[in-house]
Amino acid sequence: MGGVACRKHGDQFGQVACKHVVLAVYGVSRLSGEPVEFTVDYLDDGRWLATWSACEDCARALGALAGGVISGSKTERPGFSIACGVCYRDWRSRPASSSEDP
Ligand SMILES: [Zn+2]
Ligand SMILES: [Zn+2]
Repeated sequence: MGGVACRKHGDQFGQVACKHVVLAVYGVSRLSGEPVEFTVDYLDDGRWLATWSACEDCARALGALAGGVISGSKTERPGFSIACGVCYRDWRSRPASSSEDP
């Protein structure tokens, strides 16, 4: 998996996520609802796995369920990119944004 250069954290391992999640991680926009995390089996033999994150719409488009595994052959879809893994974890550990006061 490729790394990513974060303005805050420098070079980090990336978290693959749909563009909506990436924008939410960087605070550009907000995600309605929780992101769906699922496992991609790139070679369909269980040896090369990665956790991806997507908004509900993108996860549905891939046929991915939370905690499920999808075939790597489905990952040619556009619209996915990579967020800084540290920013992603920080964002995920925040309380739900719906109950957040400015
Ligand atoms: Zn999305
Ligand atoms: Zn970062």
